[in-house]
Amino acid sequence: MTAGLVDRFGRVHRDLRISLTDRCSLRCTYCMPADGVPWLASSTLLSTDELVRLARVAVGLGVREVRLTGGEPLLRPDAVDVVAALAALETPDGPLDLSLTTNALRLPALAAPLRDAGLARVNISLDTLQRARFLELTRRDRLADTLAGIEAARAVGFAPVKLNALIMRGVNEDEIADLVSFAVERGLEMRFIEHMPLDGGHTWRREEMVTGEEILAAVAERFDLEALGHDGAAPASLFRIAGTSATVGVIASVTRAFCDRCDRVRLTADGQFRNCLFAHDESDLRTLLRSGADDARLAEAMQACVALKRPGHGIDDPTFVQPVRPMSAIGG
Ligand code: SAM
Ligand code: SF4
Repeated sequence: MTAGLVDRFGRVHRDLRISLTDRCSLRCTYCMPADGVPWLASSTLLSTDELVRLARVAVGLGVREVRLTGGEPLLRPDAVDVVAALAALETPDGPLDLSLTTNALRLPALAAPLRDAGLARVNISLDTLQRARFLELTRRDRLADTLAGIEAARAVGFAPVKLNALIMRGVNEDEIADLVSFAVERGLEMRFIEHMPLDGGHTWRREEMVTGEEILAAVAERFDLEALGHDGAAPASLFRIAGTSATVGVIASVTRAFCDRCDRVRLTADGQFRNCLFAHDESDLRTLLRSGADDARLAEAMQACVALKRPGHGIDDPTFVQPVRPMSAIGG
């Protein structure tokens, strides 16, 4: 086997995002239409053994970090078993760095089992602190459950607990500083994300997007910020709130694309390997695996997929076309 997951531009891929399911308990307007999207057929979903085998092959190619996502990853009935199996994977640099992105609704029940299974860190999506707005944004009246999930994550000692907010004009841009205050008061790390054209309803408009710069300006109205740069390949530009150890991050995927340092690859719940959130092509590892391919063949397919990675997502290119799969089916 040759070197790892390296593309034509010399980018080395060490971060694998695995989608555990495309289903979700919320219907965030920026992610899914009200009626959801056509769900993946259950026969196409990878079993835990299949998923862990592919992760092991990826580790053999240099992957050191795995983030579980979805859809809502904790809707997968055996999510804790998946975590335990992945946590047991050894890399030459020690255990995998294993984390989870979740809407937190199931964390009151699952935070402790997930921690015991080996999960180290969680990112929780929280776009608003207002109940009516949460209902409008997610089409479900479940802010209290999300907040309980955040408390559960803190209580069992995940470190860090990061909060992700997607800011939209005319929707929640007036809450930017409030979200930072909420996070700082609880020792959580706030991250803001620019809205990307990945919604199932295809409603994204560039001119309506709240930019990273605007978000920072809103934070700076309440807090003094010190720029920290970014942490390795991580996408967030980080800022310290002066006089504290709290940080705020802005993930400006559209206006300040970080494609040149991208180290991510993705595996969908139905076993398709992707070299970018915005890729149009996928490598069908499920069919390969179910037709008896050995690990070397699976590794070759992953490498071939990475070799075709484009230099950037091209959102600002007039010829940009949104991928067919919505974010919920790719794995955010
Ligand atoms: N259900 C989990 C959650 O919400 O955290 C995990 C999956 S969700 C797709 C992962 C992240 O993607 C969330 O933080 C969400 O805000 C973000 N996201 C969804 N649609 C997006 C879009 N169109 N642009 C930018 N981020 C998006
Ligand atoms: Fe579900 Fe996450 Fe999409 Fe919201 S952003 S609908 S919680 S997958």
